[in-house]
Formats: sequence, structure tokens, C-alpha cells
Amino acid sequence: MKNSFEIQDITANEKQNNPVIAEMSKYNHEQLLFCNDNETGLKAIIAVHNTVLGPALGGTRMWAYNNELEALNDVMRLSRGMSYKNSISGLNLGGGKAVIIGDARKMKSEALFRRFGKFVNSLGGKYITAEDVGISPSDMSWVSMETAHVVGLPGKSGDPSPVTAQGVYAGMKACANIQFGNDSLKGKKVLVQGVGHVGEYLVSYLTKEGATVYISDIHEDTLKRVSNTYGAKVVPINEVYDVDMDIYAPCALGATVNDENLLKLKCSIISGAANNQLANESVHGVEVMKKGIIYAPDFALNAGGVINCYSEVAGLSNTWALSKADDIYQTIYHIVKRSQNENIPTYQIANKMAEERIEAIGKVKLPL
Ligand code: NAD
Repeated sequence: MKNSFEIQDITANEKQNNPVIAEMSKYNHEQLLFCNDNETGLKAIIAVHNTVLGPALGGTRMWAYNNELEALNDVMRLSRGMSYKNSISGLNLGGGKAVIIGDARKMKSEALFRRFGKFVNSLGGKYITAEDVGISPSDMSWVSMETAHVVGLPGKSGDPSPVTAQGVYAGMKACANIQFGNDSLKGKKVLVQGVGHVGEYLVSYLTKEGATVYISDIHEDTLKRVSNTYGAKVVPINEVYDVDMDIYAPCALGATVNDENLLKLKCSIISGAANNQLANESVHGVEVMKKGIIYAPDFALNAGGVINCYSEVAGLSNTWALSKADDIYQTIYHIVKRSQNENIPTYQIANKMAEERIEAIGKVKLPL
């Protein structure tokens, strides 16, 4: 007689090669929660990558993925990235992320977000959520009606962008110190690609210091406003990589450091807020080093946002968050120096540092 718990329509081969579990074991993800609710149309995945350092914190993204596999890949990649970002920033937070599958312009409702909040709550605080692409503060207010495990709500730690920009600015100065011999960005030609929330703050810091700032954006009205306010020079989007610049600051999309752009890019530092700037880490991370360009690893540089969220979790002030964002100077300086001393690309050093802290603190947490 067969064990009644045995799933009989799965072949022996499939039992051995469950593709989701295999994917989870690749980077040692702790837990995935698949969320479905036919009433509200909610389809979501919450990925908890690692909770050695603390509860897994990372935003919820709402996106019209082409298929569920795409959503799964995205949430697994992003949650691992959060473990690294939180670790290298010295925060007592693990890494997690959530994705809601669907068109953010068509599918939003109070019921959908409250149902999602129920799922977040079912993890008992192991995962803390926040805003990400496609999510607004009012969506998160609905989530917060069903769970306390939400940060970045209106009236709490607020918009993380100024803190993110401050960290990017500090890290950029560390790169300048190593590449040009001192911290000053006065007279340096800096191109800020994307002058949205983070980019505009960065432009304000740079122009205040006397850098020559070039800006590019797909929105003409934004460009005009930022250019008029700060006196930055506008560059058409298709001419960005032709500009003779000292520092390239990608603050819009990822994957702009790729084969095509690297053929033209004339800069000696890449330091911007965008996530996943290297199209292919192992190819372009090495390529930039060969070209003598200092690349400030994105997840270490743009950690100001999560530092701001952490201040809310830990009951710390905005002043603390801004000062912690300034510490990004030391982190980036250390990464670049270690990269040069060991002749290893900066992205590899940053990954190693994040992994080393998780490993070391994991041992601290063993029972006495
Ligand atoms: P945002 O949407 O406010 O700004 C992005 C800007 O880039 C917009 O003005 C948009 O028009 C412009 N843009 C889009 N495509 C472009 C292109 N091809 N060329 C030039 N400009 C283009 O976003 P944000 O909050 O300022 O974030 C910017 C980047 O930094 C994103 O990659 C984000 O993931 C990352 N980041 C942001 C934070 C934060 O605190 N907001 C924290 C960490 C990382």
C-alpha cells in the first residue's frame, strides 16, 4: 500500500529535480512564499534570502511580468541583492524582496494590497516590506492595515532619495580621492543620467561644490526644470556616451555598463545610484578595471535608501541616517583600495565583504 502522502503524479525524475528548490539552493535562499487570491486577483511572491543578520528587509515591486518564471527570477535576484546591500552597510538586516505580478496602472485596489499585507504578516516579521517600483505610499498604507511589518510610510522615515543621494555623493568623493588624489569634485565633469528623485538631489550637491554637471533624462520638462534650477548642461540621451567626462553617474536604469557603451564611454569613475549597472558582472566588472575606470559597486553606493528604512525599524533619527550614509565614503574607499591591492574587480570585493560579514555574524549567533 502506497503512503497516502506520496504525490503520485510526479515522476521520480521530477522529484529529484524540483526546479524551484534547485534555484533556491543555488544562492541558498531560505524561503519563498507564493501568494494567490482569486477574489482580489493578487498573485505575488515573497522571497526571503537570508536572515542571519536580522529580519529580511526589501521593497515590494509591482510589475507586469511576461510570465511567472520572470517574476520568480526577479524576486530571487533582488532579494539576494538586498542581503548583500544590508550586510555591507553594517545593518542588522537580512535580505528579502516581494513582487506583485500585474499592471500597476490597472490592477491596484485596497483589497489587493490588504490581502498582500495579510501574507506579509503571516511571516511573523521575518520579512519587512517597503515601497519599490510601481508602488506608492498610499498602496503601502493599505498594506499597513494588515501588518506592522512595513516601513517608509508617509509621516515615518519618508522619502529615502535625499539619503541615497548623500551616500552616492560621499562614495563618489572616495573614488575621486583615489583616482585624482583628493576628494574635491570642483571643476570635475560629472554626467548624471536620470534626474529623478535621487538624480536631482545629486545634481544639487554637485553644483553646490562647483562641479561641471551634465544631465540627461527622457522627460523634457524634468530636464528643463533641473537645468534651470542648478545651471546643469543638458545632453541628449543618445549623446550621453560621447561626452568627455570625468565621472559617469547612472541614476536611471541598470545595465548601461555594457559592451556597446563601454566602447565609447570616456570617464575614469563610474559612480551612480542605479541598481545593477553592470550588464554582466563577470564580463563588464573586469572590463572597466582593465580600462582603469574605478567602478563603485552599486549596492554598496546606493545603500542610503535602505539605511533610511533601517532608521525607522530601529527607532533612529534622520540625522543618524544621514550620518550613516556618509560612512559610505569609507566603505567605497576600502573596496577600491582592496580591489587595487589584490587586483580583483571592485564588484567581487564588495560581494566578498558582504558574504564575510554574514558568515562572521552567523558564527556569533551560534548558541554558547
Ligand atoms: P526616479 O524614477 O525618480 O528617477 C529616474 C529618472 O530617470 C526619471 O526622471 C526618468 O525619466 C529617467 N530615465 C529613465 N530612463 C532614462 C534614460 N534612458 N536616460 C535618461 N534618463 C532616464 O527613480 P529614483 O528613485 O531617482 O531612482 C533612480 C535609480 O536609483 C533607480 O535605478 C533606483 O532603482 C535606484 N535607487 C533608488 C533609491 C532611492 O532611494 N530612490 C535607492 C537605491 C537605488
